[in-house]
Amino acid sequence: MAKASDPTEALPLGGVIGVLGGGQLGRMLSVAASRLGLRCHIFEPGQDPPAGHVAHQVTTADYGDSSALVSFAKSVDVITYEFENVPADALDELESIAPIRPGRNALATSQDRIVEKQFLADLGLGVAPFAPVDDLSSLEQAIATIGTPAILKTRRFGYDGKGQVRISKDSDLDAALSSVAHAPAVLEGMIPFDSEISVIAARSTTGEVACFDPGQNIHIDGILATTTVPAPISDSVRTEALKAASQILEALDYVGVLGVELFVSGDDLLVNEIAPRVHNSGHWTQNGCVVDQFEQHIRAVAGWPLGNPARHSDVVMENLIGVEIDDVAALTTEAGVGIHVYGKAETKPGRKMGHINRLQR
Ligand code: AMP
Repeated sequence: MAKASDPTEALPLGGVIGVLGGGQLGRMLSVAASRLGLRCHIFEPGQDPPAGHVAHQVTTADYGDSSALVSFAKSVDVITYEFENVPADALDELESIAPIRPGRNALATSQDRIVEKQFLADLGLGVAPFAPVDDLSSLEQAIATIGTPAILKTRRFGYDGKGQVRISKDSDLDAALSSVAHAPAVLEGMIPFDSEISVIAARSTTGEVACFDPGQNIHIDGILATTTVPAPISDSVRTEALKAASQILEALDYVGVLGVELFVSGDDLLVNEIAPRVHNSGHWTQNGCVVDQFEQHIRAVAGWPLGNPARHSDVVMENLIGVEIDDVAALTTEAGVGIHVYGKAETKPGRKMGHINRLQR
């Protein structure tokens, strides 16, 4: 099969996009691809993945299964991923078979919080004060430099506030290290932010950049609860946030959609983290824009021109977490509500089961 190895070459209709990961993001990417006449092949270790219900093909295998990965890569035109904890090693072998978009550089940068923060700081972007922590003495040293309150986070494999513990001046430091399983970690100064916002931005194979409007995010128990667009921020903060996202895309020579989470403190903007993929805080685009973040990502990795990111409606996105999914029947009778259900087999506390987009006008 012809590969999209020439970066300016666009995938033809019927082309196949390989997606590493079969969760809800893979599911929504697959729906977007099929709307454009493209197809998705999902690679996922778990049985009955949400993306499998709507995909052209599914491979069920571990990320360590290199022969399954190679067969997968040979069956697709381009490879992308829907979560950033794909083992970077798994991609090594695949790169020579099919292009990987976004590239390994973006994945490697976002997989390690210290590498990520250093990369952002080197671009001149504001970040929380941080220091590496490997054991009790480096934690004590980090606290001496950064002070309290602070947050200890694992360097790798954190998501939805997992692998994090808050540190106050009275904290038991041994217990804090135990709660991150003594994994390599980073201590971050606690930012007294006014609000959290995110920018969902995209870059094409030809270097074209398009940013969606920043949304304001509310987290509950470390999990995103709502995104409100437009975010109530000043024009200068908005401009700075979009500039930061564009700068990150350029520096990573990025192709695809990127999520950038930021803290707003007065007129100051600090980048919290970047996600090299479509992002929960961009789900509002499904009902607020003609081209949503999923289609935008598919367009970018397929080598197509980007869509117009303009917002046609104000939106509040609400995640349906755990048993909140049982509210769907009642929501079907409400006007101006876009319903998105992920088709997960089991409802668990804290699990993202779906979301709704409430149009505000
Ligand atoms: P993260 O996994 O880094 O996105 O953190 C999850 C949530 O914890 C963020 O969305 C913030 O609400 C909060 N948080 C993380 N880091 C900091 C920080 N340095 N200062 C204040 N709040 C933070």
